[in-house]
Amino acid sequence: MTRVNCPCKYNFSDDGKKLTPRRDVPSYPKYTLSQETIEALKKPTFDVWHWEHNEMLSCLEYMYHDLGLVREFNMNPITLKRWLLGIQENYRSNPFHNFRHCFCVSQMMYGMIHLCNLQEKLTLTDMGILMTAAVCHDLDHPGYNNTYQINARTELAVRYNDISPLENHHCAVAFQILCLPECNIFANVDLEAFKQIRQAIITLILATDMARHGEILESFKQKVDSFDYANEEHVTCLKMVLIKCCDISNEVRPTEVAEPWVDCLLEEYFMQSDREKCEGLPVAPFMDRDKVTKPTAQIGFIKFVLIPMFETVMKLFPQIEEIMVQPLRDSRDHYEELKQIDDAMTEKKKTENMSLVSAVVTV
Ligand code: 5GP
Ligand code: MN
Repeated sequence: MTRVNCPCKYNFSDDGKKLTPRRDVPSYPKYTLSQETIEALKKPTFDVWHWEHNEMLSCLEYMYHDLGLVREFNMNPITLKRWLLGIQENYRSNPFHNFRHCFCVSQMMYGMIHLCNLQEKLTLTDMGILMTAAVCHDLDHPGYNNTYQINARTELAVRYNDISPLENHHCAVAFQILCLPECNIFANVDLEAFKQIRQAIITLILATDMARHGEILESFKQKVDSFDYANEEHVTCLKMVLIKCCDISNEVRPTEVAEPWVDCLLEEYFMQSDREKCEGLPVAPFMDRDKVTKPTAQIGFIKFVLIPMFETVMKLFPQIEEIMVQPLRDSRDHYEELKQIDDAMTEKKKTENMSLVSAVVTV
């Protein structure tokens, strides 16, 4: 199956390719996860680079079984396999926004569910919403961000009136896939429950637009000191912050796992800025290959986006300090050291050039 030929009303896809139904049982070979993998899967230290697509599919399948979601929603286990395969096929092979990123976000969500004991605090429906939103959150990402979509007046920007065009699209594709009877993991929940799940997944995927970061974090900060798990608004806000945390959590991972993601992100950024230059569109400095480096890209993001958000979540779940916040502080320090080395090199080159110039002038 590539792009679903959707029998439901959301029958559009960005590049005109159709999503075709899958009726066969997915052919990905049965991969038995070792006990070691199963244990590692719960932790942010999990090496997400080690696995092929089939293995990541097996891990995701395992998470749905392990969390009790298959039982809770009375899912057909084969439907779960077909759905996951449909999801994987609808991620494009972008440098960053690809199926491995989807896996990372979902695995971090699974890790946070365990670390924060969310199973004791939230309902199984909430767990299904969090995991499914994580799995679907960047579906069919074209590799060019909302700013590009809007400035280039793409079909997506026109369709969604410049309002979070990408996130709206990810979400629409998610429900195109779920609308296929053979992929509908929620086929056996009643209509009212499905409505509620659908609304909640939409809310979470739309919350991943970083343009709304300040607004969402502010709203969470106002609730966190007197957080009430019985208050629906509080819980919705927490779920929005949780998916945001997982979405941008690469720097929580060990350096050797996190660092390659920065190269992937910059590769995608540079592809966009090169195209913007070609098309005469505005270029954001943080995407410009002449202005950004790995340390400069990460220092600001860790200091001003990641640490403030994770430290706020830490008020509710103090256990994330050691496992998630400390690695962020270490990574910030690591990149600050790298920046100092870069700066020293630039300074050295400048001095060398100056002496070269004065030598030429003297001659
Ligand atoms: P996503 O597009 O994955 O849904 O939303 C997350 C956005 O946050 C990315 O597109 C990217 O712009 C930004 N982001 C995520 N992780 C990092 C990171 O490690 N460093 C930087 N500089 N930006 C990041
Ligand atoms: Mn993402």
